[in-house]
Amino acid sequence: MSKSLEKYLHKQMDKEAGLIHSSHRTKIVATVGPACDTYEKLLDLAKAGVNVFRLNFSHGSHEDKAKIIAMLREMNDKEPFNISILADLQGPKLRVGEIENNALEVKAGDILTFTNTKCVGTLEKIYVSYPNLAGDVRVGNIIMIDDGKIEVKVVDITKDGDVKVEVTLGGILSSKKGINLPDTKISLPALTEKDLIDLEFIIEQKCDWVALSFVRSVKDIVILRSKLQEKKSKTKIIAKIEKPEALVNIRDIIVESDAIMIARGDLGVELPIEQVPLIQRELIRKCIHRGKPVIVATQMMESMIDRVKPNRSEITDVANAVLEGADAVMLSGETATGAHPALVVETMCKIIRQVEATEYRYNREEDLRPQPHSPSFLSDAACYNACKIAKDVDANALVGMTQSGYTAFTLSSYRPKSPLFIFTKEKFLVNQLSLSWGVRAFYYDEENSLDDIIFDQINILKERGYLTEGDVVVNTCSTPVHLHLPTNMIKITKVE
Ligand code: PEP
Repeated sequence: MSKSLEKYLHKQMDKEAGLIHSSHRTKIVATVGPACDTYEKLLDLAKAGVNVFRLNFSHGSHEDKAKIIAMLREMNDKEPFNISILADLQGPKLRVGEIENNALEVKAGDILTFTNTKCVGTLEKIYVSYPNLAGDVRVGNIIMIDDGKIEVKVVDITKDGDVKVEVTLGGILSSKKGINLPDTKISLPALTEKDLIDLEFIIEQKCDWVALSFVRSVKDIVILRSKLQEKKSKTKIIAKIEKPEALVNIRDIIVESDAIMIARGDLGVELPIEQVPLIQRELIRKCIHRGKPVIVATQMMESMIDRVKPNRSEITDVANAVLEGADAVMLSGETATGAHPALVVETMCKIIRQVEATEYRYNREEDLRPQPHSPSFLSDAACYNACKIAKDVDANALVGMTQSGYTAFTLSSYRPKSPLFIFTKEKFLVNQLSLSWGVRAFYYDEENSLDDIIFDQINILKERGYLTEGDVVVNTCSTPVHLHLPTNMIKITKVE
């Protein structure tokens, strides 16, 4: 190994811990909360296989989030991980206020009054954090409370702006429970005042990804994109799909976003729940087709919040998301507040590895070829064929280079059989790409000849334990090097 390459090898321990991260190609997103908010606990989770940590801005202070971000950055410096940070904005989430004694039994047939004036909730009046509720709902609209555990129907809208509802599905209502209005067009902006304050913090902290909740149209993404661009932020956008309106506009939303989260929690309340599995399948297919990472979220291993083993159905759910080709599967309460966060991640990792080791693993190559009308058709064709060549020669590594991330997302979208390694001189991308299926990214900023670049990349992978003598590598790159064109070349090498 030449002296000049030593700077790329400071994370020498890949041979041990780093390889864990390469052992599952479908990535794991874990939500941070009180169950994993120390350096040691976060490290345990990363060692168990977490690629992306999610900070949920519905809970906690900026001060606490800044501490977690600092810990994750320290971990990336000390350990062989490229942990990515996903900041999840609360969005226009509606909630009831405080409820008397934190428990109010409501029965089918009861008439309740939702008001915009702050009060402690009783059978008389319940506060709802939505100033324009009376303006937006219509008589007959359904309102779901606490993930649909309680259901009410609007029966009257009073002159003084209260909304009278009749309970159709009773239950126990407690404080701050979420509200969904599946058949009401909500007039709240995509980015609430709270979101805008959180966004400033997220940009300052240089989080890798920002997730926008309750996306309704492509305009929501455009607004967020312009806010990021104003601040020259490199943070990429995830659109959370959890509203029926988003499904109507899904093609444009996928094109405009950098990634998609299938937020099955709210989606399953806003739509008939039996529609969610097929929507998941279709969204994954559409995202892979566009080369956009897609996350399957919510209740994947829910029973492990307090138990040490998942249900059979949860194992099948994670396995199916892998088989459908998702880039990532997400844990929420399981790691944020659960009793066994590291065990959940280990278990999830085992399920992923088991599926990925079989011939049933998702294979896009045959059904979704590069599209001739696409402006990136030539580089897409190079990436597509590199994946095919890598398969034909049973390559031990498929290597790509990127400045924008495009080649990484494209190579990944073909779900290649060979391990996928991406080199980039954009430091920000190294962690950002951790969300993308199968990608293991490395920082590399030499501007050498192509021969030297390929030689260096193979040596770095050799030194870090991913390649050995006799292995076959397929490199994609672009020539002339100094022009930084989209990928336009494929080379096959036998490692010496
Ligand atoms: C969801 O609804 O599935 C989801 C991920 O959203 P949140 O947890 O932010 O409410």
